[in-house]
Amino acid sequence: MKKIADIKHVFFDLDRTLWDFEKNSEAIIKVLLKDYNIENTYKTTADDFIKKYRKINHKLWHLYSHKKITKEELRSTRFSKTLEKLGAKNEELGALLERDYIAKSPYQTRLLEGANEILDYLKPKYKLHILSNGFKEVQHIKLHESGIKDHFNNIFISEEMGFQKPDKAIFHAAQTKTGVNPEACIMIGDDFGNDIEGALNAGWKAVYLTSRKKRIKQTDMYQINGLLELKELL
Ligand SMILES: [Mg+2]
Repeated sequence: MKKIADIKHVFFDLDRTLWDFEKNSEAIIKVLLKDYNIENTYKTTADDFIKKYRKINHKLWHLYSHKKITKEELRSTRFSKTLEKLGAKNEELGALLERDYIAKSPYQTRLLEGANEILDYLKPKYKLHILSNGFKEVQHIKLHESGIKDHFNNIFISEEMGFQKPDKAIFHAAQTKTGVNPEACIMIGDDFGNDIEGALNAGWKAVYLTSRKKRIKQTDMYQINGLLELKELL
């Protein structure tokens, strides 16, 4: 495949693009379930709990990203709502789970397959940056603990910038801070709405990291099933 021309700056999303959010989150929830003896007390299994939690968390994140609820509301309800689904109303326990989850999950270090290799490959050729919608207090720890922080020239976190992807403003702000034109920027991400459509709207190019094999036809957009496929494009 022909390499994409004129790119100078590569912006990576973090969660589910480099940092293996699903595996890391699952690992830490399993630890918490043991710590608080939840499987025995509420007659559930780790897999069942995680499935319920994911569904609730996903819904709350959707509301948060559309500014329907605050970060505090998201955080104060996702675990107690999961417990409620198990027939247990226990807000106190929900708050403890949330506290421990926030404290411990960013110290998990699993990365997606090929993450280190692709960053080593790209670093001498491009300026690399992070452009993430996560919370500031956790994203910096994740980058540091997983050992990839030094690969990036800039770390742009939505909470620190005052805009969230897919808002055009966050792409423009990142562009201004790095002093480049949109044509020289490419966004790599796993979220079609936030990362891909957001970047394309800002006049950037984009690479969609997805498990789906079927290609989406879209100008200035490329699709990969694994990070190492970036070697064919960049
Ligand atoms: Mg992501």
